[in-house]
Parts: sequence; C-alpha cells; structure tokens
Amino acid sequence: MPNDNIATKLLIDGELVEATGNERLPSVNPANEEIIGSSPSAGKADVERAVAAAQKAAPLWATLSVRERIKYVRAIAAGLQARADELLKIEVLDTGNTINKAWGDISSAGEALEYYAGLGLELKGETIPASANNLHITLREPYGVVGRIIPFNHPIKFAANSLAAPLMAGNCVVLKPPEQSPLSAGVLAEICREVLPRGVANIVTGLGSATGDVIVRHPAIKRIGFTGSVTTGMAIQRAAAETCVKHVSLELGGKNPMIVYPDIDPDLAAQTAVGGMNFAWAGQSCGSSSRILVHESLYDAVLKRIVERVAALRLGDPLDPQAQMGPVNSERHYERVCRYIGFGNADGAKLMAGGKRPPGKLFERGYWLQPTVFADVMPSMRIAREEIFGPVLSVFKWKDEAEAFAIANSTDYGLTASILTNDLNTALRAARAVQSGYVWINGASGHFYGTPFGGHKNSGLGNEEGIEELYSYTQNKTIHIMLKL
Ligand code: NAD
Repeated sequence: MPNDNIATKLLIDGELVEATGNERLPSVNPANEEIIGSSPSAGKADVERAVAAAQKAAPLWATLSVRERIKYVRAIAAGLQARADELLKIEVLDTGNTINKAWGDISSAGEALEYYAGLGLELKGETIPASANNLHITLREPYGVVGRIIPFNHPIKFAANSLAAPLMAGNCVVLKPPEQSPLSAGVLAEICREVLPRGVANIVTGLGSATGDVIVRHPAIKRIGFTGSVTTGMAIQRAAAETCVKHVSLELGGKNPMIVYPDIDPDLAAQTAVGGMNFAWAGQSCGSSSRILVHESLYDAVLKRIVERVAALRLGDPLDPQAQMGPVNSERHYERVCRYIGFGNADGAKLMAGGKRPPGKLFERGYWLQPTVFADVMPSMRIAREEIFGPVLSVFKWKDEAEAFAIANSTDYGLTASILTNDLNTALRAARAVQSGYVWINGASGHFYGTPFGGHKNSGLGNEEGIEELYSYTQNKTIHIMLKL
C-alpha cells in the first residue's frame, strides 16, 4: 500500500509520461503537512499533445457501437473497484477527507460510470412531424474533444464522473485534476491506460493558470465541463470566448440556505443542519447548508442543539474510522477560511463554537480548524454573502416567511436549499420561492443519480448527474429526408 512518494504520471495518447519540462508539483498531506507524493505539472506542449491524441482517437471512438463504448466505460468502473482500497488511502492522505465519507466518494465514482454506461442506449434522436410527406429526424453527435476541469474536494468522484457522460456520448476527453489533490487521478490514469484505446481519455495534472487555461483556450476543444469556484467559472467563460465559440457548462459554488419552520422538532433541525454542513469534508462541499435560517420561536432551542452537536464532533486523523472531521485541504485554503472567521468576528456575528485551531499535539501541524458556528448573522455580513467553503456554519433568525425567503435569496448564489417543515403546502411554497437549483425537503446534502443537479444564478450553468448531462455532451444534427410519397 503506497503511503508516501506516490508519483503520478500524465496520461497522454495511451502512455504514462512525465511533463515535457519534467516539472512536478508536491502533494501535501493536510493532516500533518508531510509531502506524500507529487504529480507532473503539464505545460502548453503537454496539453497540446493530449488534445492531438484525443482528436486522433475521436473518429473511431465516435463510430464504435454504443454497446462497445458501454463495455469500455464499465471496464473503468471495474478497474476502480479492483483498486478501491488503494484509492481510498491515497484520497484520504491527499485531501484530509475522513475515511468513512471518502469511501462513499470511491463508490460514487464507480456509480457514475455505471449510471452513464446504463444510459448509453438512450442517446436517441427524434422524429419530428414538421411537414406532411417528408421525414425529419435528429441525431445526437459528439463534440469530438471535451475538456474537463475539477476542484479539490471530491477528486476521484469528480474525475470518474468527468469521463462517464462525455465518453458514453462518443467524445474523447482531456481531464485536468485539482493541483492540491491530484494523486487519485494518477490511479485513474493507470486504469484508463489499461482498459481504453489510446487517446480516448487523457489526464493532465497541473496548475489552473497554466494547464487549465491551455485546455480552456484550445480551439479544438469545443465543449468544456468545469466544476469549481464562481470566480474561476467566470474567467473560463471569458477565456473560452476569446478563441472560439464553445459550449461551457459550469458547476460552481454555493451559499446554501436551510429554512427551519416552527413546526419542526429542534433536535431534528439541529441534526439535519449539522449533517447538511458536511463537516466530514471540513465543510468543503458545494452543497453544504452553510446558512441555517431558524424561525424565532425555536431559534434558541435549535441554536443550542447545533452548538452542542458541533462541539461534540470528533476531530482526528482522517484515516481513523472514528474521525468525524479532518483538516481543510491546503494551507492556502486554511488561511482563507481563517480570514472569513475574522470577518465574522469583526462584523459582529456571535461566535458560539470553534473559530480556532483545535488544542492538542495531533493538531499542531496541518491545516486544522475547529468546526465553527456563528449566531445572529445578518444578511449584510461578509460571512453571510460569500462562500467560505470551510467548517463554518452561520445561523440567522427570521420572523415571517417573506423575511426567510428574502434572506435565503439574498446572495448571488443559487445552488442548493433545504426546507424543514411538516406541512406539505408550506414545503412546496418554500421550494418554489427559493432561487436554487436543487432543493431538499426535510433533508440535506444527499445526491441522487438520475436527478439533475446544477445551480441557478451565479452557481452554474447546466445540469449533471442525470440524463441531461449525457445529452449536454452531444449536439443535435437535424436531417430532412425529402420523400416522394
Ligand atoms: P477553483 O475554481 O479554484 O479550481 C477548480 C479547478 O479549476 C482546479 O482544477 C484549478 O486548477 C482550475 N483552474 C483555476 N484557475 C483556472 C483557469 N484560469 N483556467 C482553467 N482552470 C483553472 O476551485 P477549488 O478551490 O478547487 O474548489 C472549490 C470550489 O468548487 C467551491 O466554490 C465549490 O463550491 C466549487 N464546487 C462546486 C461543485 C458543484 O457541483 N457545483 C462541486 C464541487 C465544488
């Protein structure tokens, strides 16, 4: 089992190779700051070779029967399954995500591939009765080469998911993993090399400003699927438009509200709020319910229970199955989250739990932060408006429903929302009122393959995890057959 010096390679044209300049980026274990491995830092020449390989492989891949492509995509899933234990350890060391939850990410990686393989035969076009005697049909055609760029929080899950829909739709892929946590994608590269034809999947690690930007601007890549922050998503839209017309889909950040109505049991509300914050990933999940909006009649009761639950969370070595929260992903990100805790204090929010590095020898090195709760948060505060993407929960008080909706919709984000109430009419009224793309009623944070996931407002463009994602990697061709009936 590798636990140090995990050295990954680029996958280009079916070969595992170093970057042209031989440059490598170190990978740091966020739990103790030890260097555990490294990955190549791909430059322009490497990305260009990857795109050329994908272009070369694309015609044959697109004309394979769907059933052949299904076999290939299932073989990637089987490869992941066969190396699941190794992947799990690498993922935990490289991200700081706790082992129990990281296990879910590994299985979800396989599930994404199986799900899209199962949808392969649904790549159907239409027949349209547009004129009396002729036949009008549409075909779904692949784009050719797809570029995918992913963030650091669920690396193997996003990497596998990034291949699934585009490959099934008949495209070849150039994938860029996150520079902070690229090691599990190195295993995926080895698996793809074994099971896929050359050039069908190419995996290039490196920095966003170098590797990612070359992918985004490459004129042969007409379809980009990006997951990451709003700022980068906007930069990608701009950069892509500078070289040619591209179809860009964006899965971006969130500042997700959970509205707690007065008819909800305070214990259940606190349990759902803390669960929805995804502390097992140190809050680093785009769908985390980071804003809890509680009706004034049960505000004190819910707040007290949230604070108790958060204070009881067990921080520990992410490899320990008992650990409920690990460190945040990187030093840079740690500093960012600390800055936001500072903004919360400076703006007058009431710090109810956490806010500091935890005491104890285990936490002296590494990017450790206590799980943190702010109360009496006002919509104008910075911690209320901006995504922190860390273990920081903000609690707000509301009096009437209109005020709750106004707070919920007061940010530029619109990814997820939760509504907690036992009244079905209230629940559906609230679900319609919130400006979010994915809404849970009496729940939080779960994803369900087959249902479209995606953000409204600045949280994104397009949907993933459903058949819409498969279709989004195709473009329509309309054919008119003029008949003489
Ligand atoms: P980020 O935007 O900093 O980076 C994401 C990826 O983009 C990385 O691979 C990075 O190298 C690359 N990148 C950076 N600059 C680039 C550029 N100019 N051109 C091309 N590529 C570039 O995001 P992050 O900090 O890694 O991840 C956290 C963010 O991702 C949060 O905002 C979170 O909410 C969001 N996220 C969204 C979803 C979703 O499904 N909506 C899922 C997970 C994470």
